[in-house]
Amino acid sequence: MKVIYTDNNATTQVAPEVVEEMLPYFHDLYGNPSSMHSFGGQLMRKLKEAREKVARLIGATPDEILFTSCGTESDNTAIRAALASDPDKKQIITTRVEHPAVKNLCEYLSKNGYSVTFLPVDRQGRLDPEHLYKSLSNDTAVVSIMWANNETGVIFPIEEIVQMVKEMGIVFHTDAVQAVGKIPIDVRKVPVDMLSLSGHKLHASKGVGALYVRKGTKFSPFLIGGHQERGRRAGTENVASIIGLGKACELAGKHIKKENERVKYLRDKLENEILKQIPNAMLNGDREHRLPNTTNISFEYVEGEAILLMMNEFGICASSGSACTSGSLEPSHVLRAMGVPFTAAHGSIRFSLSIYNTEEEIDFIIEKLPPIIERLRELSPYWKQ
Ligand code: PLP
Repeated sequence: MKVIYTDNNATTQVAPEVVEEMLPYFHDLYGNPSSMHSFGGQLMRKLKEAREKVARLIGATPDEILFTSCGTESDNTAIRAALASDPDKKQIITTRVEHPAVKNLCEYLSKNGYSVTFLPVDRQGRLDPEHLYKSLSNDTAVVSIMWANNETGVIFPIEEIVQMVKEMGIVFHTDAVQAVGKIPIDVRKVPVDMLSLSGHKLHASKGVGALYVRKGTKFSPFLIGGHQERGRRAGTENVASIIGLGKACELAGKHIKKENERVKYLRDKLENEILKQIPNAMLNGDREHRLPNTTNISFEYVEGEAILLMMNEFGICASSGSACTSGSLEPSHVLRAMGVPFTAAHGSIRFSLSIYNTEEEIDFIIEKLPPIIERLRELSPYWKQ
């Protein structure tokens, strides 16, 4: 059975060009970049090239990029570094809709001596900058606000809010794991202090990420050990994956505009047809300020898990809520924060597309989904049309 993969916010296919670029570093060039001999040492140059490519995609300079193992590590490193650099300050400001990589860390910190302000969002998942401005205080150590939401695709006005935070001398971190590679980002124009990204969300491999740290930002490492990454992140570099990440960033930079127009067209077609053909289906999230690849739709009076299982019979892969939280039957914290009614939050499905999706695949989903929802509603004791 052909797989129709529309779960790209969970993870992406590694681009064939990226695989090709990585392969020599498993069988021929397997040295350690820190070695004195040239067999290993030559890899330093390759790491440098990868660093330049990652930096170029977001408008940074190479020495502002440090490689990590994933988006979660980048987020944890950034927030902990900000707290360590100003130990007298005890307030963290974030939002109610962050990925668990930030949310759960902040909840942990709130039980360990910090006070955390979780900013609300409105029914469309939008953030009102006023809430942030009112929460800032002399005790704020760090503001961590995601660039784009993984469940709804809603984009926050980072450019607008970062200025105010910086004027107060507070560190600003953004989790841009879902945004990098999908929309243009330029840290020369948007002066965040730290920014997280993750390889497997942009057609590189799993197990590699990066943290942008603006020059001059006070920093203390999370992993302590060897001198790798100029002492900012210990541990032998994941050479092949880092080189793959560089290639993926290079490809994203080349294709971001043209490919995203096509992805957006496919997303809009899927979304519009679903909303047109299926009664009591509603879009979750701001239609306008949204990633081009993501749509999150609630089908009232059906279980998201049941929809996923029935779509799975046809090879269609999507997600109900965040992949990292599925497995629990709690409705998504993001949709709850947005005030989506319980009956709808339970039946929410996220489709997240990539440049590898075709119009035929979208047509196939549009054909299969309406009868699935109809069938499930026939079985639902709550559904009366
Ligand atoms: N932040 C966001 C917004 C995400 O969507 C994810 C993964 O889904 C992460 C952080 C965590 O990234 P990783 O899986 O690389 O740890």
